[in-house]
Amino acid sequence: MAKDMVDRGQLHKLFLSGKPLREIAKELGSTHGSIRTMIYHERLRNPLEWPVRVTYPGKSEAPVLMMHLYECEDCFVNFAVEDYDGIDHSATVCPICGTDEMLVDKGFGKFALTSTSTVNRGA
Ligand SMILES: [Zn+2]
Repeated sequence: MAKDMVDRGQLHKLFLSGKPLREIAKELGSTHGSIRTMIYHERLRNPLEWPVRVTYPGKSEAPVLMMHLYECEDCFVNFAVEDYDGIDHSATVCPICGTDEMLVDKGFGKFALTSTSTVNRGA
């Protein structure tokens, strides 16, 4: 299998369509590993055209999100915002008091949503 013969334009189109890499590889007659490597190199060259996707192909049903944690010392509330390229964290405010005056940056990490997750349920 000639793994360097993948059409870059076609790969880009399939990538942006949100298809799992496995299916893209099948469609382009390549392998999952080669496609992933190609995307990795293309992203280094042109990060804006190859946005990082938060869902993983394959068996994982739970999307993994990068979240940034904050605590408002005024309201004693912890909350998290999605943390990926392009998010302006300077615009983050406490959901209770609506200001950033007492916000403490608690760091960030990967969060996996599960079917029992209370995230975004609003209750
Ligand atoms: Zn607050």
